[in-house]
Amino acid sequence: MGRERVRIVIAGGGVAGLETLLALRAHAGPLPHVTLVTPAVQAVDRPHTVAEPFDRGVAPTRDVAAIAADHGAELRLDRVATVAPHRRVVGLGGGDELPYDALVVATGAAAVAALDGAVAFRGPDDVDAMRAVRDALLAREIGAVAFALPAASTWPVPLYELALMTGADLVAAGVDAAVAIATPEPAPLSLFGPSAADALAPRLAERRVTVRTGARPVAVEPGVLRLADGGRVPADRVVAMPAITGRPPAGLPADPGGFVPVDAHGRVHGLDGVYAAGDVTAFPLKQGGLAAQQADAVAEAVAARIGVAIEPRPFRPVVRGMLLIGGTPLYLRAELGTRTGTAEAIPSTSVASAQALWWPPAKVAARYLGPYLATARPRMLEPQPLIDRAAPERPADDRDREAALALALALADGDARSGDHAAALRALDAAEALAGTLPPEYAAKRERWREAR
Ligand SMILES: Cc1cc2nc3c(=O)[nH]c(=O)nc-3n(C[C@H](O)[C@H](O)[C@H](O)COP(=O)(O)OP(=O)(O)OC[C@H]3O[C@@H](n4cnc5c(N)ncnc54)[C@H](O)[C@@H]3O)c2cc1C
Repeated sequence: MGRERVRIVIAGGGVAGLETLLALRAHAGPLPHVTLVTPAVQAVDRPHTVAEPFDRGVAPTRDVAAIAADHGAELRLDRVATVAPHRRVVGLGGGDELPYDALVVATGAAAVAALDGAVAFRGPDDVDAMRAVRDALLAREIGAVAFALPAASTWPVPLYELALMTGADLVAAGVDAAVAIATPEPAPLSLFGPSAADALAPRLAERRVTVRTGARPVAVEPGVLRLADGGRVPADRVVAMPAITGRPPAGLPADPGGFVPVDAHGRVHGLDGVYAAGDVTAFPLKQGGLAAQQADAVAEAVAARIGVAIEPRPFRPVVRGMLLIGGTPLYLRAELGTRTGTAEAIPSTSVASAQALWWPPAKVAARYLGPYLATARPRMLEPQPLIDRAAPERPADDRDREAALALALALADGDARSGDHAAALRALDAAEALAGTLPPEYAAKRERWREAR
């Protein structure tokens, strides 16, 4: 296939769609014609919304139009409604058809409330409800909250972040309330292996958060969260992670949950030239970093398909979790394997640290998108892909971090006052790496300084 004539359509402007675009350009250069079909020009970075109810940060907004323009992609603000693989065209919601030589489906998944009566935390729209729970605890209007993980396959990190930040605020305010996590996991964040549970134990204890493992929450009743084994967790309010369902365009195969089956290169079963990456696929764990790794595998497979001399590497999942917990963030990393004879994902390596285990230390650890989105990088330079780092010998403590954070923010203010906005943004990047997120006033300053740069 001549690269100059190739038409690649990417459906979805989320993590997987954008990472596919950046990885494709890295491997195949500027010649393939790429069309990005997605319904909105801007997207809120969902993972950071966990900080908002606690006033510990503001979720940044991704400028999808600018990212598409920077990478030479044509942007169609629409939805891919149907795929007709035999004709190699997609039908758009607006009625047009787009032909493709390779199609990458990255349309994500829908999050639906899994427990009646609980606050489902799915992102920006649920920040106020979570804030109301925290405020009611702080005002001593209620005395117990339970954080429920309804299914083992749900991404558990946000639930721990919400519980730990709630605990941190209650301890800081001297309020004695019960904060519990109820989860089917065998140990806290067992997905990340034993290092995670070891690193979490003191942090949970300091924030007075208890964890009930091996527990499947099934119902919210007055004053309690009921578990499948008949157990009860006292709870005036329950906060739960949502259930996830697939929403692929019509014409694609899907499993009973609505997810698209793919092989290790992201090829959709039975359809030549059609690939999928991210939450839309049948891979059991839905996470941004994994979505990006799937996108990287897809981009390599598509590049090989269109004639680039590349040996496409399969998707080999590594989970990277940056937890915002109130205080120094916690970084977790594990390579995933499968239990012999089953499809169950289990960690084969496990590391935890209070210092960044990858660089740049983005919450969504995407090989190309992470470095590109790191604020201060000049857009014209080719960013270095994300790299892993070893855990440091001596971890920094909270006082080291707070002193370094205060210094980085003071330097940022100083650079901005002197008119050097690029340096000010670099200092903010350093501050964000230390704290995991920026104080709200600095998130606003970042926007102003970006415009002034
Ligand atoms: C509260 C919360 C916290 C999280 N924290 C983390 C974290 O710390 N780290 C992490 O790695 N992950 C985290 N995740 C998970 C992460 O957000 C998702 O796994 C990730 O966004 C999946 O990327 P995606 O590209 O597959 O889907 P999405 O990011 O959902 O993107 C899908 C895109 O497709 C578009 N679209 C939908 N339908 C169509 C269509 N028919 N045609 C064209 N476009 C369409 C959508 O508008 C969207 O732009 C968190 C999730 C939540 C809810």
